Amino acid sequence: MPAQKRKRSHWRRLLSESVTTLEDLPLHLPKDDRFRKLLHQYPMRINPYYLGLMGQKDDPIYRQCVPDLEEISNPNGLEDPLDEEGRSPIPGLTHRYPDRVLFLVSAQCAVYCRFCNRKRKVGRPGMVTAQSIREGIDYIRCHKAVRDVLLSGGDPLLLGTRRLHHLLREIRRIPHVEIIRIGTRVPCTLPQRITPRLARMLGEFHPLYIHTHFNHPLEITPEATLACGRLADAGIPLGCQTVLLKGVNDSPGIIKALMQRLLMIRVRPYYLFQGDLAKGTAHFWTPVRRGLEIISALQGYTSGLCIPHFAVDLPGGGGKITLLPDQVKWQADGSFLVKTYEGKVFHYPATGE
Ligand SMILES: *Cc1c(COP(=O)(O)O)cnc(C)c1O
Ligand code: SF4
Repeated sequence: MPAQKRKRSHWRRLLSESVTTLEDLPLHLPKDDRFRKLLHQYPMRINPYYLGLMGQKDDPIYRQCVPDLEEISNPNGLEDPLDEEGRSPIPGLTHRYPDRVLFLVSAQCAVYCRFCNRKRKVGRPGMVTAQSIREGIDYIRCHKAVRDVLLSGGDPLLLGTRRLHHLLREIRRIPHVEIIRIGTRVPCTLPQRITPRLARMLGEFHPLYIHTHFNHPLEITPEATLACGRLADAGIPLGCQTVLLKGVNDSPGIIKALMQRLLMIRVRPYYLFQGDLAKGTAHFWTPVRRGLEIISALQGYTSGLCIPHFAVDLPGGGGKITLLPDQVKWQADGSFLVKTYEGKVFHYPATGE
């Protein structure tokens, strides 16, 4: 056989075949000039793998990735709901909590999720530059309190393997950085990216954690199972950060099925997020009490491993708070009454008072 040039990797080919224009979408959207404005403001990208999970208009996959005119017609929400810019000592690095930073290292994602809380930024030039990455590393190096670095974006795993390796090596060289975390939706939206080579490379940087992001049981496919298995086999603990989305997953049955299936692919539920108040995403918002109802519907009915923390990220930059359903009634003597998942009331005595 004649010598061949190294083939472009499968995931890069899939990414290059993404649908980015309305004309290429194999579905009929109503003809409306406002769609052009919408796509100009908030880019679309749906790679063929994720597109293949879509069954019909308005199904949970469709709702997550196909643009909706509500994104530009609904004025509710904030450009930067978590005040990330206000808490960024340098562009692309948010230092909100004492011991950890959020470091944006890629502007690209395998799919542009319509509900993204960083939709003001993702997919745009200038979100991440070689300089912002260099400055981010310098910042971490100079701040000894930072023991936990969370790489995010965009999607860090859309960086080339060699580039990512270089970046991880730079961060690992900083003695006070104890753990590295990567937030990535790739195991869900482009699992082909998780090649054996990538998993092996990531495994050089332990302790390294991955937070991935699945929102619906339809996303747990054989491909996603293989991808998560490869990461888990490389010794990487996997967590999931799901977002509650109206019309996608805002019911106890869907969330329970999702959490149980995540455990089957070796991913531990971490957070269930209330949708952030990002502009262009208001049509996805659910009442906060829905999240609490969902947690109540899980507690006791399924294993504690299946139950994520229900978290609200406060507008204005207050950070994440976790909410629990009201279960406890304190008594004056330090004892309390508590309601079980079956609705029975029990008394727990005062201890160590
Ligand atoms: C969510 C977040 C983190 C990580 O929070 P954990 O609760 O530790 O997972 C860190 N920094 C910022 C700015 C965040 O928004
Ligand atoms: S993968 Fe994450 S960062 Fe990228 S568009 Fe989706 S939610 Fe936003």
